[in-house]
Amino acid sequence: MPASKYLNQFQLRGLNKLGRVLIPGGGGMPSFDSAPFAQEADRMLDYLPAEDRKGLLFLLGALAFVPAPFLKFKMLLIQRFSKWRGAPGAPFRLLDLGLKGIVFTLYYSKLGPQGEDVLKKLNYSTTIKMDKGDLMLQETGKNDLIIDPSEEKIKEIYHKANAARKELSQMSVQERLGHVSALKEVILKNMDMIIDKIQKDTKKSQTDALISEVFSALDYLEFLEKEAVKALKDEKIKTPIALLGKKSRVYYESLGNMLIISPWNYPFYQAIVPIATSFVCGNGTLYKPSEFTPLKGLVEKLLDEAGFGRGWVQIVYGDGKTGASLVANRPDKIFFTGSVATGKKIMKAAAELLIPVELELGGKDAAIVFEDVNIKRAAAGVAWGALTNLGQSCTSVERIYVHEKIYENFKKELLSVVANIKQEVDSDGDADVGAMTTQAQIDIVKDHVVDAKAKGAVFLTGGDWDQENAKAPPMVIDNVSEDMKVYQEETFGPVLPLIKFHDELSVIESINESIYGLSASVWSKDEGRAQRVTRQLNVGNVSINNVMLTEGNSYLPFGGNKYSGIGRYKGVSGIRGFSQSKSVLIDKDSATIEVNWYPYTGKKFKLFKAMTFHAFTRGIGAFIKFALTGMKLEGYSNKAGKKGRKNLK
Ligand code: NAD
Repeated sequence: MPASKYLNQFQLRGLNKLGRVLIPGGGGMPSFDSAPFAQEADRMLDYLPAEDRKGLLFLLGALAFVPAPFLKFKMLLIQRFSKWRGAPGAPFRLLDLGLKGIVFTLYYSKLGPQGEDVLKKLNYSTTIKMDKGDLMLQETGKNDLIIDPSEEKIKEIYHKANAARKELSQMSVQERLGHVSALKEVILKNMDMIIDKIQKDTKKSQTDALISEVFSALDYLEFLEKEAVKALKDEKIKTPIALLGKKSRVYYESLGNMLIISPWNYPFYQAIVPIATSFVCGNGTLYKPSEFTPLKGLVEKLLDEAGFGRGWVQIVYGDGKTGASLVANRPDKIFFTGSVATGKKIMKAAAELLIPVELELGGKDAAIVFEDVNIKRAAAGVAWGALTNLGQSCTSVERIYVHEKIYENFKKELLSVVANIKQEVDSDGDADVGAMTTQAQIDIVKDHVVDAKAKGAVFLTGGDWDQENAKAPPMVIDNVSEDMKVYQEETFGPVLPLIKFHDELSVIESINESIYGLSASVWSKDEGRAQRVTRQLNVGNVSINNVMLTEGNSYLPFGGNKYSGIGRYKGVSGIRGFSQSKSVLIDKDSATIEVNWYPYTGKKFKLFKAMTFHAFTRGIGAFIKFALTGMKLEGYSNKAGKKGRKNLK
């Protein structure tokens, strides 16, 4: 028997047995079971959603053990029950359709010699000729790579997104989550390949790719599995007593087409997290990766394998020009992660079209190390926070404020951690950091280093970097002043500027003076002090006695203040940010004329005024008066409404 990618020998046997029952041959027509259908079956199974495929294979496997006469009898029963009308017959109709569908499709397919015979006998050709532009041709099969699309193609992309949205609106959140779970499985299965692909595009260390991209993405998908149904289910809302008898709800619905534009530093994580969130919310999803780290074909492959339908998520490759064209075609919301400069451009273009935006932008995160910490631990944490992904993280530690009492000891400890860093674009996980990803970023780091050196900074490590090698080494800098670029601007590289501080208030003030407000870390044994400082920092995220860890918890919303961005993603509020809320008030059909409807009369005015007064006055007496005037007002309004103004005395 020929080998199949999906069918084991039992399942093949089950398929052939079923084929023999349904198509026994004779009357000049060949029977089903002698043709080599395995490959053809594979082609069909490729296109089935993973869950359906699993179900079908299980069924075919089970059929291998059912005696042929009994199978024939079963098929007759299924056929009979499928005539039942409505819901009771539906499962049998589906079973009938599924089982017959696969057998008949294979029988009439062109692969085997028997197939050829059948078609010749029928005088029928399976060859379908179509033009490249035919819509049907585009709608079947897997997603194609969309690279540098023309304006016309972008219109088509939006057209498809609209269709996807309609299709997804027929599915429950739970059903969509089924695909997210399948995606999680596929990622787990392909972990090594994914890490290699990320490394190829970014040049980061394998462990950086594993921890900050693959693990974090899986963790977020699991969060969605656990929380998305709750976050998106209809919410019961309190209805005040003045609206007695009515109900209030908030529905969370698809917001339409979501455009996601991502940067180059975490290309996998920044793809999977927003794509999955948008998909779960039922949006048509358009995703544009960075032109520097496109991971070309990877996300499509994973989505295909996870059974995502064609066009549900469209990945559009291209540079800023493509991004701008996608914006100009008016998505219903934009989720952008990237630099402040591009964020401003996007917000400006979006403002013209009144498109809501969520912006996750740059940062200049500080670590504040107080004198009472465990120095060894704090130094290890700060070094990791500054160097993970070779400093190319929006929440990298870019300024290290150390209390003067421990400044020298902390510096010594930090230098010893840095001395042990292994830098290599490794293939076995045995390296701490890799190389810089883009030439443009190397140029920025170079510019900051040259500026710092010219202004008197002392390089305790990495001072000998040739300012060209992509493997920019960790650079611990002392004697840092406020006029230096390494102090003011986002460096996005392995630079660790040390700053001595004397008192709590002044350090908070210096940090809050920055135009950025993404994250910070506060290190102190005194939890009261750490909490006090945390509350005063004008940033979106703070880790206490740890670093970059708010991002480590998918349940916490993430986002920045000031120039670091607008909005929050992740967490329950983050899921809802990818949806649209609809407020609904439900009343019953009745004969009642509401008190605020016409006619407005002098008497109604007086009663309404009295009721207003009692409604907003405290105390049990006021409450009773409110109830009594309310009832009176209701009675009068009802009567007045029914009689009409002219008939009122
Ligand atoms: P970038 O702004 O240069 O590019 C980001 C994306 O925007 C790319 O896909 C690019 O093609 C696209 N783009 C460029 N011009 C555009 C336009 N006019 N219209 C639409 N799209 C356009 O950023 P980058 O260099 O790729 O990424 C680094 C920046 O991202 C850093 O500033 C970093 O701090 C920030 N970042 C922020 C977060 C966060 O969550 N806050 C996370 C990661 C990175």
